[in-house]
Amino acid sequence: MSFFGRNKNPRKRSPTPTGSLSRENSINEGGSGATTPHGDKPLYLCSPFADAALVNGNFKTIVTLPRYVDRMEWVAMNIYDFYTNLNEFYGVITDCCTQQSCPTMSAGPNLNYSWITPDRKQMSLSAPTYIDSVMSSVQNLLEDETMFPTKSGQDFHQAFPTTIRHIYRQFLRIFAHIYHAHFHDVLNLRSEPHFNSLFAHFLAFGKEYGLLDVKDIKGEPNAPVGAGLLWERWKESGKLEA
Ligand SMILES: [Zn+2]
Repeated sequence: MSFFGRNKNPRKRSPTPTGSLSRENSINEGGSGATTPHGDKPLYLCSPFADAALVNGNFKTIVTLPRYVDRMEWVAMNIYDFYTNLNEFYGVITDCCTQQSCPTMSAGPNLNYSWITPDRKQMSLSAPTYIDSVMSSVQNLLEDETMFPTKSGQDFHQAFPTTIRHIYRQFLRIFAHIYHAHFHDVLNLRSEPHFNSLFAHFLAFGKEYGLLDVKDIKGEPNAPVGAGLLWERWKESGKLEA
């Protein structure tokens, strides 16, 4: 099978020594994470920022499988696009996400994610190291012909669906970190309509193809994912399918 539209030479991120992409959830509850500097309610949940978007209306139409397109090809192509867009977004705020500003991979006042090493040890990484590790791992997967075949006649690996769900969970964590710790940076760039639209598209696509667990979007009651509240808000407004 061919994987159309894919750039064979995506931009390299700096390699990190922390091993391959984690295949498990690991969440530390009770860590302080990055603080929210705007009072009780984070800005990304406030009007008009929460509803700023490039795309108005429901996202269902843009995630629907086009006619004559193979489902796995469609998923692979979209994963590549989410990787590219998220990488670009993180690239422009990367100077704001440092070992000092983000010593943990935070996604809410009481939520920090741990990295799982190949020998299954939990590590607390800074957010920039965690995110570089995810992006490097995903880039390696995208370049792996057995996982993302680009030549016609090649089938997708049987582990493709599982791998895609792991990638999706890690991307969700990066979105959640940016909303929690860097939404003011997104606002400074006046990029909130673009970023919200990218996240809403990501959520809609994940739901359509069964790539996201609700518990990953919402977190635990005592350690909620901050950006998970956007999902609720956008479902109520009809932007996303309930
Ligand atoms: Zn950060």
